[in-house]
Amino acid sequence: QRVGYAIVGLGQLTVDELVPAVRTSEHAHVVAFVTSETEKGLALARAVGLGEDDVYTYDDFEQLTGRKDVDAVYIVLPNALHREYVERAAKIGKHVLCEKPLGMNADDARAMVEACNSAGVLLMTAYRCQYTPEHWAARDAVHSGKLGKVKLLDSIHVQVEDDPEAWRLKKELAGGGPLVDVGIYCVNTLRFVLGQEPQWVFAALHQPDGDPRFVEVEESLSFMLGFPGGLIANGLTSYGARTTSTLRVLGEKGSLLMDPAFPYVGVRLSLTDEQGELTPSFPSSDQFSQEFDHFAQCIREGRRPWTPGEEGVQDHVVMDAIYESARTGQVVRLKTGQGKDAFR
Ligand code: NAD
Repeated sequence: QRVGYAIVGLGQLTVDELVPAVRTSEHAHVVAFVTSETEKGLALARAVGLGEDDVYTYDDFEQLTGRKDVDAVYIVLPNALHREYVERAAKIGKHVLCEKPLGMNADDARAMVEACNSAGVLLMTAYRCQYTPEHWAARDAVHSGKLGKVKLLDSIHVQVEDDPEAWRLKKELAGGGPLVDVGIYCVNTLRFVLGQEPQWVFAALHQPDGDPRFVEVEESLSFMLGFPGGLIANGLTSYGARTTSTLRVLGEKGSLLMDPAFPYVGVRLSLTDEQGELTPSFPSSDQFSQEFDHFAQCIREGRRPWTPGEEGVQDHVVMDAIYESARTGQVVRLKTGQGKDAFR
């Protein structure tokens, strides 16, 4: 029996990526949609073999209570709405997969974790790159010692946002600018490959005058994370430059480069060590389908997902500190115990 998902929000990600991906998943299927765009919902339902009764409005969300075939709800809405729907899902006893960023800030995200914990439902943050073989190979290269002692890392994720009306450029809906949307991949992946938490943060941002896109959020942001042992990582994110996504790790004996690092398909990893350069290849796998399957298996087995809500909280802790540093011009130290372990 496949685990049933209700998808909430039928925007670009749902239509172009999630619905096609779930059709190739082994353990999951979609059994309902929740949207204000009824026509779009009905058309999508028909396309996947569902009926009119499987499409709900946002106001009707609580009617999912009676749907025994809905095991989990997948929240794919603008960031400001994540918390409301995670809490509503928890209240009706449904497990929740929530898109990144988990919330609007660390406090918002912590409240979401608490709501799910007290309701006894699982919460997973949809960090697709942590379900990608190239990213695991990068992490393994760091942990196996193949690169020697790691000294420096850098990561870039930029893309152009050219619609001044986009919700991503409205602080009240997005919570921040490119940092919380695409820069979050740099923060999350740096933490993931190192398996460590930063101890301090330093950052600067640019918000140009006279560009209607950047009235509320930054255009570009540069940040530095200090990890234990003097290891330094740099990150760059922007909505002003053509799509680029990279991760580089520099060690005493070798280095690795992922370029591109964060696309849906076509991540490319190359490793350079004393033996020369190697570009490993991996069987193709769909990141979204992996996420659907992973969470489905966790639900069946009653086990914690690999990227739980706490993982989403931790990136917010770091991103809140990045914005604080950019605002104050000061290094922000993260308290001991504020790391991932504090939530485990
Ligand atoms: P989108 O703008 O394409 O879709 C947003 C959906 O929310 C639409 O169906 C819209 O009708 C609905 N909506 C409800 N209330 C709204 C409101 N007040 N304003 C605007 N839309 C409203 O967005 P998207 O690209 O699908 O992003 C949705 C979520 O998914 C975001 O949290 C985003 O960060 C995340 N996302 C993740 C990835 C990934 O690779 N994991 C990629 C893209 C988006």
